[in-house]
Amino acid sequence: MINQAKRQVKIAKKQADKFAALLGNRQNVLITTHISPDGDAVASCLGAYGLLRSLNSNPTCCFSDLPPDRYDFLPDFDKIISTDHRSAESFKTALILDCGKLPRIGKVERLLGQDPIIVNLDHHEDNEWFGRLNLIFPEAASTSEILFEVAKALKIQISEPVATCLYTGHFSDTGGFRYSNTDSRSLAVAAELAACGANAHQIATSIYSNNSPANLKMIGEAIASLELHAGGQVALMTVASPPNGDEAEDIIDYALSVRGVRAVALIRLRDSQIRVSLRGRDLVNVAGIARQFGGGGHPKAAGFTTEDDVTTLRAKIIDALSREVETRYADADSKD
Ligand code: AMP
Ligand code: MN
Ligand code: MN
Repeated sequence: MINQAKRQVKIAKKQADKFAALLGNRQNVLITTHISPDGDAVASCLGAYGLLRSLNSNPTCCFSDLPPDRYDFLPDFDKIISTDHRSAESFKTALILDCGKLPRIGKVERLLGQDPIIVNLDHHEDNEWFGRLNLIFPEAASTSEILFEVAKALKIQISEPVATCLYTGHFSDTGGFRYSNTDSRSLAVAAELAACGANAHQIATSIYSNNSPANLKMIGEAIASLELHAGGQVALMTVASPPNGDEAEDIIDYALSVRGVRAVALIRLRDSQIRVSLRGRDLVNVAGIARQFGGGGHPKAAGFTTEDDVTTLRAKIIDALSREVETRYADADSKD
């Protein structure tokens, strides 16, 4: 039997036209994303940078946190500037990517003028629809995938640099085509982007074989901190974040790689700020848990930041993940 993907990102012509009308032919458009930007965040912004230029605009990519150097292979990476280089109320129009809640753009919010025109393009289920145009598709594996569909709907020729960016974002948010959002549809998007010039091998090497020695040691520390709870179904790792902000997004995958583990947390300590990443497998949904702690995300990948005491926090996380696993699997067992 052919295993067809059920999900589809369909951009209506009206939506694509509105995207072009709001963001095309403009001198001063801001492109931004969430704080602590990940691969999809950085790459979708750079892909959008190329696409808006095709629409005769002159966009500026400005982030609250500059992206980690590991993405410096992306075209136009050096065009990304930090908020320090812009004065308040610099932009009337903004394209906000991969960001469910407006305050998650961090210090960039100050750069928006009164009543800004915002295009909100994202795949978070809990997106707050804060834009004048909201292109929200939780069924998309990545924000980069949505942008790709918008470009196709607008019949924009996807250049090699744009394809490289969109492929990279899509590749990172599918964990290199390993996560549960990988299906015939997400692979088809990748194939189309590869046909437009994205070099799959080079991008995979840049993402996964590009650790600094310090980074690898940090991964080692995280792995050494691994502890298991709930009879081996819940895993927890703790690591001190480096001051340069390169937090090696995929560290948490090592916890999830342990046989029998169903829910995991990675606690990253940076000064008084604690950043927590949560991941779930199969029936487990971690988005609700992240929300309880004031964060958000997707069913299988979510997170939050806190200034809570780390010992108390650890206990709360272990408890929440253990309950989640117990509930989901008790329900599943009762259905058997
Ligand atoms: P991470 O574990 O940081 O890779 O994040 C996984 C997912 O959770 C991403 O989709 C993030 O956008 C989301 N997420 C992480 N931290 C937060 C937060 N503080 N608030 C809302 N969403 C978050
Ligand atoms: Mn993201
Ligand atoms: Mn994303």
